[in-house]
Amino acid sequence: MKYDFVIIGSGLGGLECAVILSREGYSVCVLEKNRQLGGNLQIFVRDKAIFDTGIHFIGGLEKGQNLERYFNYLGLSGKLKMKKLDEDGFDIVSFDNDPIEYKYAQGYENFKRTLLGYFPDEEAAITAYCEKLIEISHSFPLYKVESGNASIIDTKFLEINTHDYIASLTNNIKLRNVLAGTNPLYAGVADKTPLYVHALVINTYIESSWKCIDGGAQIATQLSKTIKEHGGVIRNYAEVVKFNFEGESIESVELKDGEKVVGKQFISNIHPSITLDMIEPGKLRKSYVNRISSLENSLSVFIVQIVFKEKSFPYLNHNYYHYKSDNVWDTMDYTEESWPKGYALFCPASSRTGEFADCMSVMAYMHYDEVKEWENTFHTIPKNVSLRSESYVEFKKRKGEKLLDELEKKFPNIRSCIKSYTCSTPLSYRDYIGTKDGSMYGILKDHKDPLRTFISPKTKVPNLYLTGQNLNMHGVLGVTIGAVVTCSEILGMDYLIQKIKEA
Ligand SMILES: Cc1cc2nc3c(=O)[nH]c(=O)nc-3n(C[C@H](O)[C@H](O)[C@H](O)COP(=O)(O)OP(=O)(O)OC[C@H]3O[C@@H](n4cnc5c(N)ncnc54)[C@H](O)[C@@H]3O)c2cc1C
Repeated sequence: MKYDFVIIGSGLGGLECAVILSREGYSVCVLEKNRQLGGNLQIFVRDKAIFDTGIHFIGGLEKGQNLERYFNYLGLSGKLKMKKLDEDGFDIVSFDNDPIEYKYAQGYENFKRTLLGYFPDEEAAITAYCEKLIEISHSFPLYKVESGNASIIDTKFLEINTHDYIASLTNNIKLRNVLAGTNPLYAGVADKTPLYVHALVINTYIESSWKCIDGGAQIATQLSKTIKEHGGVIRNYAEVVKFNFEGESIESVELKDGEKVVGKQFISNIHPSITLDMIEPGKLRKSYVNRISSLENSLSVFIVQIVFKEKSFPYLNHNYYHYKSDNVWDTMDYTEESWPKGYALFCPASSRTGEFADCMSVMAYMHYDEVKEWENTFHTIPKNVSLRSESYVEFKKRKGEKLLDELEKKFPNIRSCIKSYTCSTPLSYRDYIGTKDGSMYGILKDHKDPLRTFISPKTKVPNLYLTGQNLNMHGVLGVTIGAVVTCSEILGMDYLIQKIKEA
């Protein structure tokens, strides 16, 4: 069988490309190295509680909003079990030594009004901030489901830095920190993260914020059904290790067991530098390979996944971003003693969730270097299960307890509610997603050299395309738009956007 498209990786971007192309009559084959499909949409269960790995909440799903329109076209509307987060406070930023919990409300008027309650003298700054977020989001055609320049927004926004822009709005240090306080959603770096990254992420959540009930894997399940309904093939335990060439073009991919899967065109949903590693030297210009492989990735994360005793801890229909100091930008810059300088906290919603929570995920940044000594061990369930050594178990325990100590300061009774907990590290993300360093959101965007950190869906190989979070933006909305960008190269942007509008 020679497929029209062979797609490497079943992350959100890979599955969405497979839906779009199979619906257009192309034969597609998705190859996934893991048992479970979905990449960061994967879930896992501990003590009967369902945990997400990389989807804690999603924006833009109200009727007529951008993600809802894309999901409608992708056949997802009406098929997902979703729960809206608190309208008057879906995200809460808080600080040690400050009793106020600073709430982000849904809807711009509500958002503004709520912030003005804490900062009554800052109307000009808060209004200017909201207007800028809207202006930037509207200047990116695909965020309005309009066809246009696919990945480059007006250059005047590309070079604005988030930290500096927020600082320019106000001298009020607390307001600056509150406005930047959800920066774990994009792993923001003070002297790098462009304002458009901040704006596109925060705008979608202000528009509307939703949790997946029983986890985000339902998105992968529904997309897979649609792919199969249109004759597509999806294979798990199919790890691609190599591209085989015929002249200048790829003829097939080779799986770990030596099998070849032949295709006319190929789309890689895995990190661009790992994609290029699978191409034999000499096929691509060194400068192109060096440029892609030298790009810095966003930071990784350590997560404590807590299962609560029955009816012990209240369910939180909002997320927390808590900081030890009044500098939300320095949490990545930690020492053994100062870690964690802050954390983000999410309570998954399950179909049995009522007054009480089943479980909670608490994330703190972690550099890959901290787990480097165990990097030669790999662990994915159910195949490739290797015990990583006592010292790794001890490391996770030590870090987990430190994070719980911090959590206990905010929620003093929390330890008595814990039934059990597990921890994941940058190695967990490396192994389950297939990145080199467990990076959360892929290639880090930099306002100083914005075009360098833009990845084109077209590669220097005529029949190889890229998709996924490294392309356009990370997150469910960013990756969905990225899949549209990739497929536009094949189907034409105007044609595809028209189909999405008509859906
Ligand atoms: C901790 C965390 C929290 C997050 N929270 C949110 C959130 O709340 N909301 C939100 O919108 N976004 C969130 N994100 C971001 C979001 O999950 C990602 O941007 C998105 O899911 C990435 O999709 P992708 O298409 O790039 O594929 P990925 O998820 O990167 O998946 C790639 C797939 O390729 C497979 N693969 C890799 N190598 C090979 C190979 N050689 N052969 C075959 N298959 C291979 C992998 O196994 C994987 O299935 C979060 C991310 C993280 C890490």
